[in-house]
Parts: sequence; C-alpha cells; structure tokens
Amino acid sequence: MIHKLMLYNTLTRRKEVFEPLNPPHVGLYVCGPTVYGDPHLGHARPAITFDVLFRYLQHLGYKVRYVRNITDVGHLENDADEGEDKVARKARLEQLEPMEIVQYYTIRYHQAMDALNVKRPSIEPHASGHIIEQIEMVKRIMEQGFAYESNGSVYFDVLKYNTKHHYGKLSGRSVDELLSNTRELDGQAEKRNGFDFALWKKAQPEHIMRWPSPWSDGFPGWHMECSAMGTRYLGETFDIHGGGMDLVFPHHEAEIAQSVAANGREAVRYWLHNNMITINGQKMGKSLGNFINLEEFFKGSHEKLERAYSPMNIRFFILQAHYRGTVDFSNEALQAAEKGYRRLMEAAKTIHKLKPSDHSDTDVSALRNKCYEAMDDDLNTPQLIAHLFEAVRIINSVNDGHEVLTAVDIELLVDLIQVFAIDILGLSDETSTGGDDQLVEGLMQTILSLRKDARDRKDWPTSDKIRDRLKEVGIQVKDTREGASWSRD
Ligand code: ZN
Repeated sequence: MIHKLMLYNTLTRRKEVFEPLNPPHVGLYVCGPTVYGDPHLGHARPAITFDVLFRYLQHLGYKVRYVRNITDVGHLENDADEGEDKVARKARLEQLEPMEIVQYYTIRYHQAMDALNVKRPSIEPHASGHIIEQIEMVKRIMEQGFAYESNGSVYFDVLKYNTKHHYGKLSGRSVDELLSNTRELDGQAEKRNGFDFALWKKAQPEHIMRWPSPWSDGFPGWHMECSAMGTRYLGETFDIHGGGMDLVFPHHEAEIAQSVAANGREAVRYWLHNNMITINGQKMGKSLGNFINLEEFFKGSHEKLERAYSPMNIRFFILQAHYRGTVDFSNEALQAAEKGYRRLMEAAKTIHKLKPSDHSDTDVSALRNKCYEAMDDDLNTPQLIAHLFEAVRIINSVNDGHEVLTAVDIELLVDLIQVFAIDILGLSDETSTGGDDQLVEGLMQTILSLRKDARDRKDWPTSDKIRDRLKEVGIQVKDTREGASWSRD
C-alpha cells in the first residue's frame, strides 16, 4: 500500500501529508533535556513520542538523521533571561564542576531512556560544544538588524522583527497581546522591550560557564542552541522539529524568529508537539509533592506509588494516549495498562503455538492495513493498540479452537505483532524468562554432569563437595533414580 503519512503541524494547525525535502532522507530535530536533575515523566513522554516517529519513519524506509540536543549551558532558572544557569546552580549546590553535573545527569538520562527502550538519536550535540556556531548566528542576526547590543549582552529585537514578519505565529500570539501582558521587570532595563529575548548574555563575575565573544565574556541565550545545532547538522531548512508543548512559547517561537532573521527563511517544515503529563489530575511540580522521577517509578520508591511500575508498563501507558492528548498518571491507570501490556506479550508467545488450517476465518491483511492507517493518521497509537488487541483476540481464539487461520495468515499475524508492537511501538517482552536463566540452566547441567562422572567412578568426596558448594550459593541438588535435578532454595 502507498503511505500517506499525515502529521499535525502546530504551525498550520492542521494535519498535513508528510513529504520530506530530500527523500529518502529525513531531518528530525527534538529538544532534549537540560541535564541538571534526575529524568522524570516529563522527559519520558517526548522521548517516547519521537522515538515512535523515528521508528515509524525508518520502517517506511526513510533514512532519518535524528538530532536530540543536550542542554548544558544557557538555560536560566526562570526561562526569561534572568536568574542563575540551571546547571551552574546545581554545580554550586553540589560543589562540583558544571561538567561533572552534565556528565552525571546525561548518563542518568541515557540509563532511563535505555530502560524505556528509546532508541539513541543519530547525533546528540551539547550546547557548550557549539558556542562558535551560536556566536556566528548571533552575528548574522545583528547584521540583518534584528538584534541589538546592550551592556555586553545581545537581545533579539522583537518589535523590529514583527514589522516585517509575524512574531507569535507558532503559539498564536500577537505582539500587541505580548505588549499588554509584559510587566516592566527590574533588571531588564537592558532590553528595549520586556519580551525581547537574549541571544548572548554577559556573564556576571561569579558566573563560571563563560566564553569570549565580540560583545563580552558570556554565554549564549537558551533559544540559540537549537537554532544553531539544527542548522549545523540538518541544514538551513529541515523536515521535522519536535518537543513538548511547553516549549512552543517562548523557545520554539524564538527559534523561528532567529532562523528567519539570520537566514531569511524558516528552518522547520513540520512542527510537532507532544502534550503534557499530569499526576492524579495535577500538574507535576516539586511544591505539590508529586514530582516522581523515573527511577522511583521503576522501584516503587515514592510515597504516592502503591508499588513499582516497570519501564515497559510506563511506555505502554504513555502510548495508550495519542501524543497530542494529555496523559494522567495514577496507580489504577498504570495497573490497568500493565494488564493490557501483559496480555499483548502473552499473545506474542501464544502465536508460535498456533496450528494452521486449510482456510481462514479472519482477513489478517485487512487488519494489517488498519494498523498502517492508524499510524499514518498522525501516529494514532491508541488506535493502533486497539487493532493489536483485535490481533490478540484472534490469536487466543485460534489457540482455543474457536477460529482457524491458514499457515500464511498465521505468518502474517506473527509479522504484524513483530512490526507494530515490537519494532514500531518499541515494546519489549519483560515477562520472558530472559537470557540469564538459560545461561544458569546451561551452567547447572555442566556442573551436574561433572558430578555424575565423579559418582560413576565412586569419587564420593568430589561429588559431595560439588553438592555442598552449590548449597552454599543457594542451590539444592536432589538425586533421583532418573539422575540429579536442581532447584533454588
Ligand atoms: Zn530546543
């Protein structure tokens, strides 16, 4: 079948047919984490959303260059050009080098994402590794007259830009509205207008992360990194830019303005945004006591959690909602999702036991087409999961002898589960016994056969020694007429 992948473009506010600029190549940029704390649910949702997009585009045959940045400098406390750098603040509190904080939390992030079976991107650039590119882009914006220097810092001139272009087109805001909503803040006297944003900030004496520039020793504004690194790795115009809805304004709005100001054209063709996560109907927040990080979910070590929830449980739960809808986490909802996930994984095993018949009661290829239609409809994963449960129903029904399928259709069903559940949704089977158990079984058979050799030659001390040593590590050996068997204590 011919795929017409429809994606909802935040910029045009409608679903559009996805047509890459240079097929089969696709450039995908997603805003990654600011690495100053443990990864939490807010990190899991965009990572999983765009992982599914990455996987699906690859499945359709595209060669995807997926760039997801690491923000290690320039993200200030209040997101509005004031306050301390988030990484630098953590470094000060922990009495560590900023790059120690970055290294530590980048590893923590990778570990959590690996557990969630999120594929690593093609390139994971650090903001601090692209200061030169950011300075060059600030220079170009100044040359075009859309930025001004003030006291060693450089600000984007929103009003001037808005005389030629539309600032606010992504978030649906107008400059008039911004003007009436902007309070005059102390310490923003450097800016011509409160909503102008920093492209470069002069570092205060106590600020440790600083680089030389034509304007001052300082650091780039937060929005600069994604514009500079997107251009650096995907070109001045690329296909898809993703991120959480909370980044639409000001971060992505600023990115659009920066690219248009520097290059005379927009960088991004399709803007995709995932919705937010709430916990028991509330926004996640440190002050609300519901800020649960991923490790706490995996271990069940937060007071709001009745028990541990596995990474695949979390992944399946997130995918049960469409990425543009909200997701509300609760113990009940997670436990319901776990049942669904287990049922799917059980069926994925049962399918290999099905006996073929000479005809089929169900049209499996029609079901497969429905699965593609769901994914082509703006990555409708809840719809896809509903179709997968129809596959589960068929598998169980054939296994119970209520329905029949031909060998060809059974193969088609095996393929459908593999492609949609495993490859595209990225679910892996946590319920299987795993490779370790097979290894232990193999080792035990080797040890027991050596013990049998000893007994056959009436070498009782060696035979007893093996039995006693195994007992010490918690393994019981039982001698029966059929030979020795073993079990864990
Ligand atoms: Zn970004």
